[in-house]
Amino acid sequence: MPHVLVLNASYEPLGVVPLRRALVLVLENKALCLEESGAFMHSATRAVPAPSVVRLKRFVRVPYRGPAPLTRRALFARDGGRCMYCGGVATSIDHVVPRSRGGQHAWENVVAACRRCNHVKADRHLMELGWRLRHQPAPPSGLAWRIIGTGHRDPRWLPYLQPFGADDALARIDGISA
Ligand SMILES: [Zn+2]
Repeated sequence: MPHVLVLNASYEPLGVVPLRRALVLVLENKALCLEESGAFMHSATRAVPAPSVVRLKRFVRVPYRGPAPLTRRALFARDGGRCMYCGGVATSIDHVVPRSRGGQHAWENVVAACRRCNHVKADRHLMELGWRLRHQPAPPSGLAWRIIGTGHRDPRWLPYLQPFGADDALARIDGISA
């Protein structure tokens, strides 16, 4: 099922919804189609162009949502697909302070890691190993990370995401297939 980028009336990216749901928004006149995907949705009586980007007609006030959700894709994008310990190709997620020792599953405590470092580190603290992180992990900023973290991508979304940090996110996610 293709997914559709939903923008607020202010053009701020709100999220990604399944095509069917976006189509309902358009048909109920709650959203405008800004970009079509090129495909068509067929009903009994007509063919409707499938949207790729829609914008809500009325501004929806969104409460502050905190950092972008911590997903595997968003994490690999933040860390450029590289192990934060050795710089090798990352294939796994590591908790800097191990969960078994009270470490949180949060942006500040999670890094992309290669299999070897993850295995060697196991449930030890960096201090015990004499290891250092290549960067201090922090939540990525910009609304585009929420969209990119969903794993749904469409080149038509890019112009709408670029003002919200997409360049940064996509530059790091390019070539990452995780
Ligand atoms: Zn490594």
